[in-house]
Amino acid sequence: MSSVSGLGKRARLAAAIEKLGGWRFLEHCAARPGLAVLNYHRIAHPATDPLYRPIISATPQEFEAQMILLKAQFEIIGHDELVDMVVGGVRVKRPRILITFDDAYFDQFEHAAPVLRRLGIPAILFVPTGFLERPRLPWWDAVSWCLRHTRKDRLEFTYPVAIRFQADPACGYEAAIPTWIARLLAARPFDEDRLNDELERQTQVDPQPSAIVERLFMRVDHLRGWVDAGLAVGSHTYHHPRLTDLEPQQRHWELIESQRWLARVLGTPIPTLAYPFGTSDAVDEPTKAMARACGYQAAFAFEGGVNRPQTLDRWAIRRFGVGHADTTSMIRGRLASLLAFGRTVV
Ligand SMILES: [Zn+2]
Repeated sequence: MSSVSGLGKRARLAAAIEKLGGWRFLEHCAARPGLAVLNYHRIAHPATDPLYRPIISATPQEFEAQMILLKAQFEIIGHDELVDMVVGGVRVKRPRILITFDDAYFDQFEHAAPVLRRLGIPAILFVPTGFLERPRLPWWDAVSWCLRHTRKDRLEFTYPVAIRFQADPACGYEAAIPTWIARLLAARPFDEDRLNDELERQTQVDPQPSAIVERLFMRVDHLRGWVDAGLAVGSHTYHHPRLTDLEPQQRHWELIESQRWLARVLGTPIPTLAYPFGTSDAVDEPTKAMARACGYQAAFAFEGGVNRPQTLDRWAIRRFGVGHADTTSMIRGRLASLLAFGRTVV
């Protein structure tokens, strides 16, 4: 994870290059065909949000500024053009951008959908359908909520890993949140109900506060509103597991159940999938083959980089995440350099 000062330097460098016309020059040069896919999570205010802040991609104002910039500078494709490209073999002759969202947080519907609709920008939202059917705080948000609200000055967890934290007099457990999230990511798979019990016992805070749970994720009517806005929906499995942790039968159920659920409530086929977590340890060849056998036509990973026509893997399309420390100038520069050189310079 980059340090705050490192991000500040990168933001200043990106602004300086933009001022000198560097990004415009790169955009002009970036004529090689390729597809760069951006991934957004929550659209919210990181300074005051009570949940897991690193998955906030932008504030509503920053998101709108980014969409205005992308629309002005790049050709943005949607779901149907993507399927034409990967299934129909339609070769793009120029660089293209695709915008995706993961997890179906309500703030994506509240803040992103109106901007996309107004600007006429297509996008795909990947939905872990269990989050809608049985709303609850996912473990990364439950951990953040409990550590931010506990009054205890020492915590000693034993599940799924043994770890102790001491409250900092100035900032409580803020520094402990990323530490424990990283340890939990490394400890997967673990039982989420058991983690909730452990959180409640140690912090004396309810890890599933009903007032937050009720409005954290979209409901079916929001999903229908998303589609009515001209935006597309894909599957993100049911429980949002790392698929490579699961036995084949359970992995198949995760892939097929979410696809069926979405097709049923939206009345449309669901040809695209995004693997939860999406890193190289979460996507393997058997999982790709299973996605294909379930009737998907394309699947997205979470490895950065640009997708060139000759190297595009339709079962692990590359995406890069937008973080709330990324300025519009950094995003513009990252896309221009990715499309021109295949790598980012800021
Ligand atoms: Zn996700």
